[in-house]
Amino acid sequence: MEQLSVLINGGGMVGAAAALAFAQKGAQVTLLEPKPPSVEENTDPEWDLRISSVNNSNWQWLLGLGIGEDVRHSRVFDYDRLTVTSISGTSLSFHADEAGLSKLGVMVENNALQQALWAQLRALKNVSLRTDDKLEGFDTLSRTAFLNKGEHLNYDLLLGCDGAHSKVAQAAGIDYRGWDYDQRCLLANVRVEKPIAAETWEVFRSQGPYALLPLTENQACLIDYSKRDDITALEKDKRALESHLKQTFAPHIGDFKLLKSASFALQRKHACHYVKDGSIVLLGDAAHSIHPMAGQGVNLGFADVRCLIETLEQYSQSTALVEYERTRRRENAKMMRMMDAIQFGWRDSNPIMQLATSVSLKVAGVPWVKRWLLQQAVGK
Ligand SMILES: Cc1cc2nc3c(=O)[nH]c(=O)nc-3n(C[C@H](O)[C@H](O)[C@H](O)COP(=O)(O)OP(=O)(O)OC[C@H]3O[C@@H](n4cnc5c(N)ncnc54)[C@H](O)[C@@H]3O)c2cc1C
Repeated sequence: MEQLSVLINGGGMVGAAAALAFAQKGAQVTLLEPKPPSVEENTDPEWDLRISSVNNSNWQWLLGLGIGEDVRHSRVFDYDRLTVTSISGTSLSFHADEAGLSKLGVMVENNALQQALWAQLRALKNVSLRTDDKLEGFDTLSRTAFLNKGEHLNYDLLLGCDGAHSKVAQAAGIDYRGWDYDQRCLLANVRVEKPIAAETWEVFRSQGPYALLPLTENQACLIDYSKRDDITALEKDKRALESHLKQTFAPHIGDFKLLKSASFALQRKHACHYVKDGSIVLLGDAAHSIHPMAGQGVNLGFADVRCLIETLEQYSQSTALVEYERTRRRENAKMMRMMDAIQFGWRDSNPIMQLATSVSLKVAGVPWVKRWLLQQAVGK
């Protein structure tokens, strides 16, 4: 890896983790990011709305990269239990004990994680952080990137970690397949009156699931997936929004105070190729955007980074990239299909689908199936 020159476009959670992982293996890394995280510590007592559940396997990997020293501890919350309830009322729970672990994963604020990754990057001599330069294009034959101020950079690998509207994918002529879910995801951070357990749960309904992610003993992120127009209408009237949230969540968690809310459009996008011309590689949301209902998006992105590094350590670059694309496309497509099966099947109010769901949850309760599902939840 010492000889490798890696240019990364996009320093969000996936791009920054990739930069750190490559740099720690000795590669020369240049990271282009127009919106770097602030160096100042966030003193806001309330969590930001953009949070992620990171599975235990990825969290241990991130700690191995050294982020434990810098991540704001009040923005990380361990959870040890996960429960899903189908539209027919059948529930399935997983506990960390069943996997012999102390936790299934953590809830972490995206900003806090990105800040911690960048703090590590800033301390490394073999990393150049470019926040004023932009990628304009590249020549794949000579492996040269052209920046907006006229500079040319040579690279061995150009990683597109620049999110769902990836400039790298566009410049490389990589197409996507996918669709809009015609749904929005409403996120609301609340302060609860009664302490809540370290449990994340999700309940399916015909219009889409609703879920809770615990942030502290007395703060939680409530999530409501519904039709785009319904969420947009609710957001126009704060009182209606609060009363809707209370109607949905108060039976589960008692009374609460709404702190902040926002909503996000949902789409499914999968790049037709992850690799181009033996040196361009897509990772994270640049390669795949999936429905967030199972909290898998950034987890798949970290798995991409881990796989790319492992294959490069094992094979020559050209073989490694073929292997990376083969492995990660198959794994990510499998997760996307699973999300679609849940999205379109579990929420169906048709009695046959309800029966199928309740049967599938009962089957999922069979010890070996449950063990397999648990492995998926903790990232194996
Ligand atoms: C509501 C919601 C909830 C979610 N919850 C979870 C969860 O619980 N667990 C989970 O695993 N995932 C979750 N996700 C998904 C997760 O947020 C994404 O998968 C993750 O943010 C993708 O990270 P990324 O670094 O690949 O892309 P991004 O976060 O999109 O980062 C891309 C970076 O590239 C930069 N960039 C963009 N364009 C350019 C350019 N032209 N040049 C240079 N840089 C550029 C951007 O500034 C940004 O920093 C959720 C998503 C949503 C919408």
